[in-house]
Amino acid sequence: MKLAEFELIERLTRGLKPNEHVTLGAGDDCAVLDLGVPGQEVLFKTDAVVEGVHFTRDACFQRVGRKALARCLSDVAAMGGRPSAALVTLGLADDYRVEDLEALYEGIRSLASQYGVAVVGGETTRNPGGLFVSISLIGLVPKGKSARRSGAKVGDAIFVSGRLGGSMDGKHLDFEPRIEQGSWLCECHAIHSMMDLSDGLAGDLRHILKASGVGAELFARSIPVSLEARRRSRLGEGAKPALLAALTDGEDFELLFTVAARDAVRVLDSWKSRFPEVLLSCIGRVLEGAGLRIRDRLGIRELNAHGYVHFSES
Ligand SMILES: [Mg+2]
Repeated sequence: MKLAEFELIERLTRGLKPNEHVTLGAGDDCAVLDLGVPGQEVLFKTDAVVEGVHFTRDACFQRVGRKALARCLSDVAAMGGRPSAALVTLGLADDYRVEDLEALYEGIRSLASQYGVAVVGGETTRNPGGLFVSISLIGLVPKGKSARRSGAKVGDAIFVSGRLGGSMDGKHLDFEPRIEQGSWLCECHAIHSMMDLSDGLAGDLRHILKASGVGAELFARSIPVSLEARRRSRLGEGAKPALLAALTDGEDFELLFTVAARDAVRVLDSWKSRFPEVLLSCIGRVLEGAGLRIRDRLGIRELNAHGYVHFSES
């Protein structure tokens, strides 16, 4: 029997019992723990990249190592926190090369030092099926300030950082985790909900909508489409249209968040002066009910994780 990833996770985590330290358990970008740190809560996260799934043997191993840590950092950013310490577990293929592993570790080490993360241990094990890297990360967030997926409210403006789509052209390895932006948003603004984009906007936004019990409408004109997605869309017959790529390509690792409509202009203006190098776009609004739709010049269409479902006249 096989289940979709989300069904499987739901099934496996159903019976888990929290203890007195758990502020927020499975189901968000990080777990949130109260371990008695004055004024702070602890964020806790693990992630893995696997040969044959996330990279191939001919990959640049330094970039693979960097990506393994950057994925975790992106999840800490999505909660509004700052990373602190990491454990690194390596699964070693039988025919591993020491130079590859050194390069991989160099990728982890340089990104760790850039963000003040201490690598404090880990584990190596044999894995005949291929190399994998699993990283566990803890971080800190001011108590009560962590951004959740579940806080979106009807009327909220929906924002996304950066440009979307075409990440496979290189950004998926070299992206900058939005640590500064995430913690600034939670410190300076009343963010209602936030997550990072890993599986594509159209699929990921659904997690916020489901957790918050709301629906949403996206404005096609406002979706920030990357140059890579545009370039790929011109590759000829069968190429994915650029907007569809921006909606459904994975591994953007940008921040997706909602704020009350009355705060939207203030957030946009202060972001522009604080982070002039990173685009911020207001791409839609939160609605009553369920479901996700997109408004373009042809009308309103339903959206699912793979793209448009059908047309409806507006
Ligand atoms: Mg995430």
